[in-house]
Amino acid sequence: MNCYHCETELIWGSDNTFEDAGIDGEGILTVLSCPKCEAYVEVFKEYDEEEYNKLFECSICGEDTSEIDYDYLVSTDHLECVLDVEQKKIDSDKKEKATEEVKEEVEKEE
Ligand SMILES: [Zn+2]
Ligand SMILES: [Zn+2]
Repeated sequence: MNCYHCETELIWGSDNTFEDAGIDGEGILTVLSCPKCEAYVEVFKEYDEEEYNKLFECSICGEDTSEIDYDYLVSTDHLECVLDVEQKKIDSDKKEKATEEVKEEVEKEE
């Protein structure tokens, strides 16, 4: 999203639930700011209950994360799931690297 005043790309600050922000209803309050003219932008987005519950779903395992403590979440994904995905990425990187090293050695031998 760009700044209303100067068209500069806004910097995302935070997402808070209406509950956390002390607002009635279900929704998300997103705070953004402009790095150029220092405009402060608050975006209020209301959701109906069904949509709202969908926001609090781990995008990796699909389970509901609305009741889980922030400490165990990365955005709305389980910290555990995110770490697991990252670990798998590291493992496959390692594997790739290992295969590359083997390839290099084979090339050297030739
Ligand atoms: Zn601006
Ligand atoms: Zn999960």
